[in-house]
Amino acid sequence: MFFASDNTSGLPPEIWDALRQADDGFAAGYGGDDLTRRLRDRLRSIFEAPEAEVFLVTTGSAANALALATLTPPWGAIYCHPLAHIEVDECGAPEFYTSGAKLAHVAGADGKIAPDALNAKLAASGRGNVHNVQPGALSLTNLTECGTRYSVAEITALASIAHDHGLPVHLDGARFVNALVAEGCSPADLSWRAGVDALVLGGTKNGLMGVEAVILFDPARAWEFQLRRKRAGHLWSKHRYLAAQMLAWLEDDLWLRLARHANDMAATLEAGLPEGALMFPRGGNMLFARFSRATHAALQAAHAQYFLWPDSETLEGPEHETASARLVTSWSTTPGQVAQFLSHLPRR
Ligand SMILES: *Cc1c(COP(=O)(O)O)cnc(C)c1O
Repeated sequence: MFFASDNTSGLPPEIWDALRQADDGFAAGYGGDDLTRRLRDRLRSIFEAPEAEVFLVTTGSAANALALATLTPPWGAIYCHPLAHIEVDECGAPEFYTSGAKLAHVAGADGKIAPDALNAKLAASGRGNVHNVQPGALSLTNLTECGTRYSVAEITALASIAHDHGLPVHLDGARFVNALVAEGCSPADLSWRAGVDALVLGGTKNGLMGVEAVILFDPARAWEFQLRRKRAGHLWSKHRYLAAQMLAWLEDDLWLRLARHANDMAATLEAGLPEGALMFPRGGNMLFARFSRATHAALQAAHAQYFLWPDSETLEGPEHETASARLVTSWSTTPGQVAQFLSHLPRR
């Protein structure tokens, strides 16, 4: 029962096949190969963005930090939710790669930035005052860190506030595909058409071995991004192995099928939860639930894997009190694993 993260899953056979096929003789390094060119063209076509530039890196933290560094000056403020991965889980990489830009929290329920809160923050931004950091960029995450999902309309509303203030919009899409299939719209609708300027399209949590694509819908920023990526030590010389994986992922809608499966498994999990256990509306393949400590003890005795989040890091405390679990499903989660997990919960 592996519900700790979608990065605990392995690789689908199609991806191994693609790696094996790419492993044939010689190819130019550093992204000068055919597979990388084909991937860029394929993503341009899928995203209906013929001008977009596409760059690969191997971690989401590098993708976020390098994209934000390209969007924001060192004296910029990056507006993000207090639970954002860039704030909580990247060890200061965004601050480091931007040479000191400041992450500014904008609150909102269920892991989503509230438009009113963003407006208020920007109204008091200190623009033009030399003593203050200057508005730099808006950063959103979809799916959010609470497992909820921004709709196209919600992204559009936030991005238009940002653009009205001259700010570019970054989207951390570690689980973009899970959001995409749940939202049932086109990739363009959930990204540039809604106002996203730089998208991190996450592959690792949806079946790839360390492949994240940074898609810059404004190609004017591309050269700077390339220099920053190389300088950060993130320009892979054997680039074809990254590109091959993502190309195979996009073939025959594999990326969408993998994400749909993960989301379906989370829906099954949600349907079996005790009444009132779910903490946030589920947007895709991740959910949070409160269980009694006795239930946690039973799950852990049965070796279920998951994180206690966001309430507590340990299970110490009174038996009758609840603690929250973060449960993430993946492309390889099986109905049997879900059923086994649910069998340890109190009946609905
Ligand atoms: C997993 C994840 C990332 C990427 O993390 P890395 O470990 O650096 O690859 C980024 N954002 C969110 C929301 C994530 O869940």
